[in-house]
Formats: sequence, C-alpha cells, structure tokens
Amino acid sequence: MHISANDENNPTALAPVRIPVVKNILSANAQTAQQNREYLTEHRITTLNLMSSPGAGKTTLLLATIAALDGLARIGVIEGDVASQVDAETIAATGTPVVQINTGGGCHLDAPMIGNALGALEAEVDLLFVENVGNLICPVSFDLGERYRVALLSAPEGHDKPYKYPGIFEAVDLVIVTKVDLAPYVDFDLEKFRELVHGLNADAPVLALSAKTGEGMEAWLDWLAAHVETLSAL
Ligand code: MG
Ligand code: ZN
Repeated sequence: MHISANDENNPTALAPVRIPVVKNILSANAQTAQQNREYLTEHRITTLNLMSSPGAGKTTLLLATIAALDGLARIGVIEGDVASQVDAETIAATGTPVVQINTGGGCHLDAPMIGNALGALEAEVDLLFVENVGNLICPVSFDLGERYRVALLSAPEGHDKPYKYPGIFEAVDLVIVTKVDLAPYVDFDLEKFRELVHGLNADAPVLALSAKTGEGMEAWLDWLAAHVETLSAL
C-alpha cells in the first residue's frame, strides 16, 4: 500500500493541526486569569498561589500562618486537590472560609477553576491563599490571576531540586524551604540551594522555616506584611 505525505499516520502531517489547539487552551486560560485578576484587584484581595510537591507542608504552613495572623487579616483559602477534602476540613476547623476544588485527576489548577471558586467563597477576605495541586511541574504554567507565586520545597526533598525542576524556581516571587528543622538529618544544604535558586531567579527571596518549631516564621510574616496591602497598613 502506498503511503502519501498527507497520510494521517504520518506524524509530520499531524503537527500543524495540533499546534493551534494548544494555543487556544493557553489563551482561554490567560483570558480568565485576567478576569480573576481584575476581580481580585477590585475587591482588594491579595492572592498567593502556593506550589510544591505533595507533602511539602503547604497546609501546615497555612495553619501556622492563620494562627499568627489571627485578627490582623481576613484570610480565605482555596484548596486544590486531585480528590478528597481533608486539607479543606483541617483549614475550615480554624473558622477560615475555604473552598475545595477537586480536579478529578487533573494535576494543576487553572484560571476557570479559580473563577468558580471565587464565586463560591462566601466571606469577604483580604488575603487569599490558593493551595495548588501538589506538583512541581505544570501548575506554574497556568496563570490563575494571582498577585504572587510562591514555591515551597521541604528540606527532605533535597537541595538539588532547582537543577531538576528549573521552571518553577524561575517563575516565582518567593521560595520557601519548609521543614528546615529536618535539614541536619537529611543533609539539606541551604546555602547551595539558595545559590541554585538565585542562578535561575536572582530576585526571589529564599526563606527557610519550620511551621512545627516556629523557626523562621518571623521572616515569612514580615514578607507578608511587606506585600499584603491590609497587613502593611497596620
Ligand atoms: Mg495540603
Ligand atoms: Zn498539570
């Protein structure tokens, strides 16, 4: 059987058909992200998109932050998970308004999901934390309309991760090393990690903290005070 250059089994012939589809998906997300950004600006809500691997301690840091800022800011949380609402229940137990997004297998949040969650958030808030799906790869490619992007890396994951996942470290406004109380036991080299991050992103501060022991929490709260409108007015 003769196979022509236009045959659909020929990958070269398929490529021009697929490229416009990818472009359309990204621009639809960017459009909704812009609408989210306008809504958040109008309502004076400072939004942080927290990204990390599963188990890096995003929820634990949120709980410590909520406790530390009690009475100083009206905090809201959007929880992104593939399934379950265990983190959302833990946050809700503190009395903080929370909306759960279950992606049903999806490995990142996108702007339309955040748009829907903003509509479902019933309380007025000044500071909104979005806990993204645990994944160091694709969440950073999706603009949610947030003001700040934050990457968390726990000490046990290793100081070499900027070599392996440069995309996230290049794109964020702040990097937080969590579980730093474990650093001595897992040979996490904080200075080496800082050097690698700054090689990719000279502007992002690198904070190191333990939400469990409280070590380093002060610098994180200072960063929030300097970047969140409501807190800086105090
Ligand atoms: Mg969590
Ligand atoms: Zn993904």
